[in-house]
Amino acid sequence: MRWPWAWPLLAMPMSLIVYVLAILAVDLALIGWELAETQWRPADLALAAALLVAAAICIEALRRLGQPSGVSRDLLSAWWLPIALLLSPLYALLAPFVVGLVLYARGHRTTPVYRRMFSSAALGLAGAATSVTFHRLWPAAGHVSLGGASGWLSHPGVVVAAIGCAVLFGVVNTSIVAIAAHLAEPEASLTGVLWDKESLLLDLTETCVGILVAITCALSPLLLLVALPPVILLQRSLMHQQLQAAARTDPKTGLLNAAAWQREADAEVNRALRSSGLGAASGSNSSVAMLLIDVDHFKRVNDRHGHLAGDEVLKSLAAELRQQVRDSDVVGRFGGEEFTVLLPRADAAEAVGIAERLRRSASMLSIFAGDARICVTVSIGVAVLGQHGRDLFELLAAADLALYRAKDKGRNQVCLYGGDEATGARP
Ligand code: GH3
Ligand code: MG
Ligand code: MG
Repeated sequence: MRWPWAWPLLAMPMSLIVYVLAILAVDLALIGWELAETQWRPADLALAAALLVAAAICIEALRRLGQPSGVSRDLLSAWWLPIALLLSPLYALLAPFVVGLVLYARGHRTTPVYRRMFSSAALGLAGAATSVTFHRLWPAAGHVSLGGASGWLSHPGVVVAAIGCAVLFGVVNTSIVAIAAHLAEPEASLTGVLWDKESLLLDLTETCVGILVAITCALSPLLLLVALPPVILLQRSLMHQQLQAAARTDPKTGLLNAAAWQREADAEVNRALRSSGLGAASGSNSSVAMLLIDVDHFKRVNDRHGHLAGDEVLKSLAAELRQQVRDSDVVGRFGGEEFTVLLPRADAAEAVGIAERLRRSASMLSIFAGDARICVTVSIGVAVLGQHGRDLFELLAAADLALYRAKDKGRNQVCLYGGDEATGARP
């Protein structure tokens, strides 16, 4: 089951709504408390403003690159961490909201407002915890903006404490978000949320950059001018990498989009044709099979449960498909409710076996939308390179005809091009 975290607030489970509101309330209460308790010092305000201006410059420098769809990663923690380490908790609580406003004003409007507020509150609470802890350990850190940091900064314990506090920042922030993710998708594995290798590496990079910027700032806020260009460069290369991935991916399902699938499938087909040496593939090692998968009566799912629920079905099916085949198989969203799978080194019998496994696992999926439990079936057309087509185009056409036959025979079937009998459930 998947429950999308990007749905409108009111479409979320009640427990998640309560949790989001509770986090926002705690954050606002702490801001109120800190507003009353914090001594305003012009030097602190100037340091906070300098770090926020640096963050705004980074946002501006990335704007021209564009924004990948879905959740994207930036290095903005590089600026929040120094605020938390060098200034009082109030600044750490407010900074994410200020950066959120800048992002909104500069056109980052795809994230729902409640989610942006929640992320800002989570970052603010993590920053406040970090700030309180670090200032307990090194009270002098609270006076950086007044100058004279070099004395305590040269103590080796400072860096160790800063690393510990940066880890605390990450742990508090991740925990708050992970609880929300769990409430949104109770059956999704939390390890997937917490231990994604790629995002751990990014967290580590953000932490290192944040500590370096904090130390630089503590030496002299003017050194921010030196820290800014490398952070921008790092951020740009990170965004470039995400844009490249986004250009290949279908945003709804995370599978390859039609163009990227065609490129990769073409390369596989050409490889098979070359290795067969005949211009047409033969033999199991050089054979390639193709599956065209179409969800049965999908329009009815949309009509009965709405398009958002329909989207959830597509996502769940896509995840199931990806999980059921080998990493080397090329899985894509062909369009609408149709998926394509290219199976290198699979002959007709193997391809029909795999298609049958996919058909069965799709029919066993349950997708919950509100109180409804949605079950769907799929029909699958199978074609094999060399036997049913000499290139990708002919293979697709053959698989398409086989798919039509599967639909004709009553749906929830697997049909091999030219084969007489379909496999699968009888209507
Ligand atoms: P059949 O068994 O013959 O394939 O029937 P079907 O209803 O699945 O086929 P049809 O082509 O009549 O309808 C496909 C539906 O898929 C219509 C369209 O609104 C829906 N659809 C296409 N793309 C998306 C999408 O991204 N999200 C949602 N929710 N629906 C989609
Ligand atoms: Mg269709
Ligand atoms: Mg269909």
